[in-house]
Amino acid sequence: MNTTLSTHFFNEAKRYIPGGVNSPVRAFKSVGGNPLFIKSGKGSKIYDADGNEFIDYVGSWGPHIFGHNPDFIKKALAEALENGTSFGAPTETEVRMAKLIVDLVPSVEMVRMVNSGTEATMSAVRVARGFTKKDKIIKFEGCYHGHADYFLIKAGSGALTLGVPDSPGVTKANAADTLIAEYNNIDSVKNLIRENKKEIAAVIIEPVAGNVGVIRANDNFIKELREICSEEKIILIFDEVMTGFRVAAGGAQEILGIKPDLSTFGKIIGGGLPVGAFGGKKEIMEMIAPRGPVYQAGTLSGNPLAMSAGYAALKYIKDHPEIYQTLEEKSKYLENGIKENLKKVNKAFSLNRVGSMMCLFFTEKKVADYKSAVSSDTNLFGKYFHSMLTKGIYLAPSQYEAIFVSTAHSIDDLDKTIKVNYDSLVKLTK
Ligand SMILES: *Cc1c(COP(=O)(O)O)cnc(C)c1O
Repeated sequence: MNTTLSTHFFNEAKRYIPGGVNSPVRAFKSVGGNPLFIKSGKGSKIYDADGNEFIDYVGSWGPHIFGHNPDFIKKALAEALENGTSFGAPTETEVRMAKLIVDLVPSVEMVRMVNSGTEATMSAVRVARGFTKKDKIIKFEGCYHGHADYFLIKAGSGALTLGVPDSPGVTKANAADTLIAEYNNIDSVKNLIRENKKEIAAVIIEPVAGNVGVIRANDNFIKELREICSEEKIILIFDEVMTGFRVAAGGAQEILGIKPDLSTFGKIIGGGLPVGAFGGKKEIMEMIAPRGPVYQAGTLSGNPLAMSAGYAALKYIKDHPEIYQTLEEKSKYLENGIKENLKKVNKAFSLNRVGSMMCLFFTEKKVADYKSAVSSDTNLFGKYFHSMLTKGIYLAPSQYEAIFVSTAHSIDDLDKTIKVNYDSLVKLTK
């Protein structure tokens, strides 16, 4: 594979951008080698600066549920562009967007738009603290909620694979207000609540964890979590930045049958532009300025370009509920193909899937929490990643990231992926 231009750009980038990238996982650090610089994408494919073609399973880390650059989003953006990019004043599209989110996600009665998933989770925790007048929060090992200080403790995603689960720069005071529970272990939550009676403002969780591979919350666990939060007057926040509009139109809360008090969104909600949102019960959301005293703001929040792309994406989802059936069928097809390959090479690696989110863990342990996830052979994953990449399959460059199937992936794409997966497994396990 010719990577002359990507290598050149990366060497340049490292002189001007820390580590050469604007977000850590992109740098390929946990799998070795240099990142590819991407030039364009269409449908299921991306093309790098040197002209190499890949079937893409990253989808910009989640947003591209319809594949790259779908015509209807491009059209919505082009139309919005005619009127100007941003006014810092209210626009009609924001109202349509908010109504559509409220319509699609039953637990959300009011919503505020922000510019990233990080902003959404930060703001949700602030309003939960303002509403309950309590300070502490509980998060779960391996869950990633963006890069706000008080979330960077035992976090997933890049914070996990780069070996810096507790980032320098996070103050002791910040860390002290974040309590860590074990995913899918309700006793670990009960213990923390008992030890910090009447001090916990919120529990934040990825209802399907997607930044430590893919792990679904067990039904009993999540049901009990909901009950405890109600009893103790703790705000339950579902971080659906990844799962929202991905696993179902109503997010993971729809498939789990649980209503959180607040939800956070990002990724798909922006149709490929930088957007986040948080929303939930009216009485909590009305705490936010200017309606209430909890401050939250953004110069570019709800800007017309981002809203038009996001609205186009969500409107398509609302008008075409059948896409989730399509995604399920395609993802199941890929899952089955890989499972057969694993059988053929006599390896019982864990393959977790929820809808179109999937992760092949290089461990024979059943993966249901952080500890089982990190029993994976990340070294072997690195080799697998490169073996797939050189044969035209672009996976997330980390063992602990989900891969995403889009509606644009064809059966041909999936068959090719299954074949390359087989060849790679044979080579790596013999
Ligand atoms: C991606 C992600 C975030 C952070 O979103 P950014 O837009 O990268 O700030 C937060 N929570 C979850 C669950 C995510 O997957």
